[in-house]
Amino acid sequence: MRECDFLIVGAGIAGASAAYHLVKKNKKVVILEREAQPGYHSTGRSAAIFTENYGPRLMRAMTVVSGPFLKKPPEGYADVPLMHARGVAFIARKDQVETLKGAVKELSELSKTLRMIDAKDAIRMCPVLRPDYVAAAAYDDSTMDMDVNAIHQGYLRGAKKGGTEVVCDAEVLGLERRGGKWHVKTKAGDFATPVVINAAGAWADVLGGMAGARKIGLQPKRRTAMIFDGPQGVDVNEWIIIGDIDEKFYFKPETGKLLGSPADETPVDPQDIQPDDEDVAIAADRIEKATTLEIRRIQRKWAGLRSFVKDKCPVVGFAPDAEGFFWLAGQGGYGIQTSYAMGMTAASLADGGGLPDAVKAFNVSEADIGPKRLW
Ligand SMILES: Cc1cc2nc3c(=O)[nH]c(=O)nc-3n(C[C@H](O)[C@H](O)[C@H](O)COP(=O)(O)OP(=O)(O)OC[C@H]3O[C@@H](n4cnc5c(N)ncnc54)[C@H](O)[C@@H]3O)c2cc1C
Repeated sequence: MRECDFLIVGAGIAGASAAYHLVKKNKKVVILEREAQPGYHSTGRSAAIFTENYGPRLMRAMTVVSGPFLKKPPEGYADVPLMHARGVAFIARKDQVETLKGAVKELSELSKTLRMIDAKDAIRMCPVLRPDYVAAAAYDDSTMDMDVNAIHQGYLRGAKKGGTEVVCDAEVLGLERRGGKWHVKTKAGDFATPVVINAAGAWADVLGGMAGARKIGLQPKRRTAMIFDGPQGVDVNEWIIIGDIDEKFYFKPETGKLLGSPADETPVDPQDIQPDDEDVAIAADRIEKATTLEIRRIQRKWAGLRSFVKDKCPVVGFAPDAEGFFWLAGQGGYGIQTSYAMGMTAASLADGGGLPDAVKAFNVSEADIGPKRLW
């Protein structure tokens, strides 16, 4: 029986960043991961975009709080920069122009860099856009590409340096509360801890069920991505990200090629999700309608799970009905870009502290992120 102060279930970005912050408080942490390596599920399947202009206000606030760390991590955190300049243009057809204007107004509360631009300027930054498709655009030059692997490995390395043990092939099979501790049965042996942190991604409600905690109503949703070539002989590396303002598709440069998505959100059970060919075809069709691109061959395709509760905001806090059981779930499509703030918040609350000042500064309360709001 191995003992620790905090036992984190899930070695994705959520569990890794929580451990990174907990070891700064001199806590003994163990992370349990079912797979043979961390990052196999959602964390390893993202589109790697950092933008302050995406999601509910609370998520955008968590993104803004995470920005300075991701832009300038501490010395020794990683051998490579964690982010690269990119820029995004949200585009609108004629029938979407009012939606675009409304979105820019709302998003400008937290983003100081988003602004309406001429459709011609969007086409200059991404020359394949069709002039007869794009009626208006909004541009944000602070949107960046992330190196997700470097961010994730940095959290894990920092956590390990602080004494965290990461145990892979360690699926949690059962949890029982006895004598003020959780006794956790896994494929890699038994563990005991006063606090379990549930960072199980799409499986968070499954794990909660094992602990006897009331479900938070987490719904995993499939999202598809694919890699294809840009026009022959054209260097796409300097293109910006293009996103439909109604989130029906997006595409972006990806190491000399293009990454596209139909921005699908199909509800599914938690699983090792695979792409559906129909979603790939839909992505190609929507992108071709907006551009002069001809998508002949898909070089690679994948799908991942984005998991949401009903208000699309994260769930961070102790379960009121299961002592010592802490939720860190519902990161949706924002889990990488919010990871620093989410890990810091989880570590502080799980250790009995309050919300970090940086998060409070955005008028976020514990009730806004805690599980109780969902019932
Ligand atoms: C296609 C796509 C594009 C995306 N694009 C972006 C983006 O551009 N920017 C952004 O910020 N976010 C993006 N996201 C969202 C982001 O990837 C997720 O929010 C984030 O990875 C969630 O991290 P996690 O640690 O909660 O989950 P995961 O990475 O899924 O980690 C959870 C881990 O828990 C483990 N686990 C589950 N049950 C058990 C158990 N019983 N025992 C032990 N281990 C268990 C799993 O094996 C898994 O490794 C995207 C997601 C997808 C799918």
